[in-house]
Amino acid sequence: MRICVTGGAGYIGSHACKALAEAGHEVIVYDNLSTGHRRFVRWGPFCHGDIRDTVRFRACLREFRPDGIIHFAASAYVGESVMDPGKYFSNNVGGTLSILEAMRDEGCPAIVVSGTCAVYGQPGAVPIAETCPPNPINPYGASKLFMERMLADFATAHSLRWMSLRYFNAAGSSAQGEIGELHEPETHLIPRVMFAALGIIDAIDIFGTDYPTPDGTCVRDYIHVEDLARAHIRALERLLAGGENMALNLGTERGASVREIIQGVAEIAGRMVPCRDRERRSGDPAILVADAARAREVLDWSAQKNLSSMLQDAWSFFAAQKGA
Ligand code: UDP
Repeated sequence: MRICVTGGAGYIGSHACKALAEAGHEVIVYDNLSTGHRRFVRWGPFCHGDIRDTVRFRACLREFRPDGIIHFAASAYVGESVMDPGKYFSNNVGGTLSILEAMRDEGCPAIVVSGTCAVYGQPGAVPIAETCPPNPINPYGASKLFMERMLADFATAHSLRWMSLRYFNAAGSSAQGEIGELHEPETHLIPRVMFAALGIIDAIDIFGTDYPTPDGTCVRDYIHVEDLARAHIRALERLLAGGENMALNLGTERGASVREIIQGVAEIAGRMVPCRDRERRSGDPAILVADAARAREVLDWSAQKNLSSMLQDAWSFFAAQKGA
């Protein structure tokens, strides 16, 4: 396949490019480098552009004639989305609309998009299957749900083929260490715990210790970024082979608490990680764990890497960054 990857200079996008190239596919990266890294573009040509620039994106499709698109380019901070919803609706909804219009006009048939478990909001029960009614509680989740709605409507009108992969918490990095999780600012738990272990920050703040969970801290389903990358390739292969349009959850189906992550990092780092108990962060559900049975069935895929390998790979990446 020849695949255009939007957001291919970012964390999950660059891992998808690597996995695509390793599987023998051609990759074109389209990215505005607002949060991505030029040095993460290593597996094919680079088009510098914004997804909202439909003319530029159409020119990229015309030049490379990809078989399909994997769309990662998005704004992805829940807290920021509450403070600046316009940015999220512009980038995530407007940007996706621009891509869909370009695909329609250039005859590009299939797209796999980066969805999120944030579309479920505060779910009534866990594990969460796709049958759980979406009910996002922040503009980020709402923008991604709206994106799925646009995909369905473009599919009906223009025979576009699509899958949305609703990830739980992406973690880890390529074992080779050439790409990894580099956000600015970094708000995610695993990188911040590692920063605390490396002395880059004073301590990790634990947001909430009174949740109805075994140790009082929030439980999340962390999934290795390489498992996510593989799922995107499978999804695009399925679509191009005539598979159904749909949204699928991607997770390991195992939860880990904030304290378990801190303990796991302490073991790998061989040192205590300084922590501070803090108030709950607003909008955090107590437990988010995937039911990924549908992805297993449809994509013949399951997560292969466990939490300890995610933490080990992430640690190698962050320790090397600090040394660099
Ligand atoms: N968290 C925390 N301290 C931090 C960052 C995150 O305690 O510095 C908690 C957060 O409240 C949530 C979990 O870690 O329960 C995962 O948060 P993250 O921001 O990594 O991902 P999210 O689940 O929000 O997508």
